[in-house]
Amino acid sequence: MTGTNKSADSGTEPIVVAVDGPAGSGKSSVSRKIAQQLGYGYLDTGAAYRALAWLVGERGINKDDSDAVCALVEDFHYASTLDPETPSVVVNGTDATMAIRRPEVSSDVSAVARIARVREHFNSMFRVIVADSGMPGVIVEGRDITTVVFPDASVRILLTADETVRALRRNAELAEQSPGSHSAKKTAEQLHARDRADSRVVDFMNAAEGVVLIDSTTLNFDETVDAVIAVIREQTVKEKA
Ligand code: C5P
Repeated sequence: MTGTNKSADSGTEPIVVAVDGPAGSGKSSVSRKIAQQLGYGYLDTGAAYRALAWLVGERGINKDDSDAVCALVEDFHYASTLDPETPSVVVNGTDATMAIRRPEVSSDVSAVARIARVREHFNSMFRVIVADSGMPGVIVEGRDITTVVFPDASVRILLTADETVRALRRNAELAEQSPGSHSAKKTAEQLHARDRADSRVVDFMNAAEGVVLIDSTTLNFDETVDAVIAVIREQTVKEKA
């Protein structure tokens, strides 16, 4: 398994902004926007889990067979850009940027993400990608990031929103991607099913000590971005003081 990015050119550690939160909390789009505004890199950790779930499907492997999935991890060569403008995912030489967003991948991903050995491999890979980024800062987004992967990050944020609002946002996102090909009820059901499956592995609804909770239920996209940037500025100033 590999993660390729620009090699470090400055020897200084990038500022890590760790963002955690449930499906539909807006953490991906908000993190991307913030990375663009601050000139930081953007690491979507969910994309790596999706990429593995996609490869499991491609190879016809049973997603619930943890030994077979772990064996596949040894032959899983993952490359992603940290560029928030054009995030891309290449798996074993194949561009899987679009394929990892397919509904069947969304349904299968929790099964591979709950395997402890897969998580350990991925967590090490994420730390290497960030350390080698050569960027002033990286927004790292996904489950477990604030607590397990980067517990010492300069900034740790849990972005959440109530369940109904998250389902509505996810639905609007899907409607934009493929108009007419989904139902709001089904989207809400899938989101709740993924919440249930993921919450057996990580607690992404309650902020751990030192993690700042931002509830975006009543905030629009720009207000959420501003709220997160305000926390980043406050925490990084505190760290320098
Ligand atoms: O962020 P996204 O919704 O694309 O993540 C897809 C799935 O990958 C999540 O539902 C979860 O099962 C898994 N995941 C994880 N840990 C992460 C990121 C994602 O378990 N850090």
